[in-house]
Amino acid sequence: MKARLLALWLLGTAFLLTVFRRLFFGRDRLSEFVNVYGREGLLPVSPEEHEILTLRYRCTACGACDREEQERIAQSRVGYRGMMATVLGGTRSLVDAEAVRATLVEVPDEAIQRAEAACPENVPIVRLVQLIRGHAARQQAAREGAALSP
Ligand code: SF4
Repeated sequence: MKARLLALWLLGTAFLLTVFRRLFFGRDRLSEFVNVYGREGLLPVSPEEHEILTLRYRCTACGACDREEQERIAQSRVGYRGMMATVLGGTRSLVDAEAVRATLVEVPDEAIQRAEAACPENVPIVRLVQLIRGHAARQQAAREGAALSP
């Protein structure tokens, strides 16, 4: 009985302290997360970006988007492996967005638009590439900001 009362007292005290802390010392946990992990490339995505990312799952790896890309892939000096690889591998983890963006520097916008037009599953390749580039830019800014901080 004594142990149970002690447990109830501990739980009650912890609960009240938590409520008190949240009421008077509320913290923006997302900002804290970005401050701590942003320099490592872990940045949040918006609901709109998340929606675009889920559309990558339409990809059936048919290769149609790479039909016109073979020469560019073969001659790539930055590790470009094609649109299908970008959709399937490049968007799997946005932590690597800067590296993926680097592989896309040789790919003109027309080629990305052509790849999307060739996709039978309507994978939004243009928006996925834009998302990768935008995320990479934010990662770079976060890293450079981190480098400037003491
Ligand atoms: S054409 Fe569409 S479905 Fe086919 S590999 Fe490319 S992105 Fe995937």
